[in-house]
Amino acid sequence: MSEDFYEVLGVSRDASEEEIQQAYREKAREYHPDVSDEADAEEKFKQVKKAKEVLTDEEQRQMYDRLGHDRYVEADKHGATDNGGAGAGGMGGMGGMGGGGGQGPFGDMSDIFETFFGGGGGRGDSNRPRQGRDLRTTLEIDLEDAYRGVEKELNVTRPDTCPDCDGKGHPPGTDSRQCPECNGRGQTTTTQQTPMGRVQQRQTCRHCEGEGTVYEETCSTCRGDGVVREDASLSVEVPAGIEDGQTLRMELEGAPGERGGPKGDLLIEVSVRDHPDFERDGADLHHQEPISFPQAVFGDTIEVSTLDGAVELDVPAGTQSGETFRLSGKGMPRLRRRGDGDLYVQVQVVTPDDLNSEQKEALEAFAEAGGEEVDVGQGFFEKIKDSF
Ligand code: ZN
Repeated sequence: MSEDFYEVLGVSRDASEEEIQQAYREKAREYHPDVSDEADAEEKFKQVKKAKEVLTDEEQRQMYDRLGHDRYVEADKHGATDNGGAGAGGMGGMGGMGGGGGQGPFGDMSDIFETFFGGGGGRGDSNRPRQGRDLRTTLEIDLEDAYRGVEKELNVTRPDTCPDCDGKGHPPGTDSRQCPECNGRGQTTTTQQTPMGRVQQRQTCRHCEGEGTVYEETCSTCRGDGVVREDASLSVEVPAGIEDGQTLRMELEGAPGERGGPKGDLLIEVSVRDHPDFERDGADLHHQEPISFPQAVFGDTIEVSTLDGAVELDVPAGTQSGETFRLSGKGMPRLRRRGDGDLYVQVQVVTPDDLNSEQKEALEAFAEAGGEEVDVGQGFFEKIKDSF
């Protein structure tokens, strides 16, 4: 009837999907009826398109390879290539193959399926290698760690590929046979009667979980899951400047993949503990520093703590309590950017509450010199005490 699909596309039998797509694009350009002058261009174009459709659908391709061209085309006419095999009784299944011509009992099931489910894409996916899930955890660090960057040891209990069965769920060398539920296809098909006709729906075979094969023995270590709990100790590089709530990604440290797929990633949400002396606002830090009344009056050079040790700050004469000074570049580093934030130092003038008599006299003299009248002997609280 028609040529072998691989030959139509001019690709080898082990061509990758990418190679097939590439070959299809070239052939489609060549045979496109709008472009080609060849008499049979349209027929060839259809063949190329059909070949691509079958060979880029993993499940269809497997069936094509298994049946061979003629049997596949015949089965396709009956809609059998879209049927689930076992359990699809009366739907023009495998038994109808080679019987020659005629429509299956329900016409072309393939078209109904594709109308409802968008066709091609995604079918047969259950048998492909799949990357493992991403896992999430948290890591608490101090502000100092966020300032300098730190390497932290992180202990996690996570799923890992079972070492005794290499994730397969059955011991090596276990006898296997084709899954009787799906006849090795990994999928089952159910047919539903709807007002618009019969609709087929595919499901991953529950009996073999899509593998198409069942095994006589189950791995006792993982009870057949292929996955065990693993306690892992990981070294996490926390970059300088990381902010509270940011997430670090450790590639391929997540859950194991399926059917040989790569592991997922481990996402680590970093929580930065509050610091008793510094409040963070992005890359800037805020800090309060106490100064005495005379320091505020006369000015002084004071020591201010930063996350990188103490520095000196010149407080000018006549500084008010609550005044803020900016120490440029003494804040946090910016994550993966140049330049550091600033440190804002707010001075708090401390009112002394434990003056000795000499200080009291001096302060009284100070007040009087300014024209104030202060009863040094009895402060406000002492007066209240006396009234009880
Ligand atoms: Zn196992």
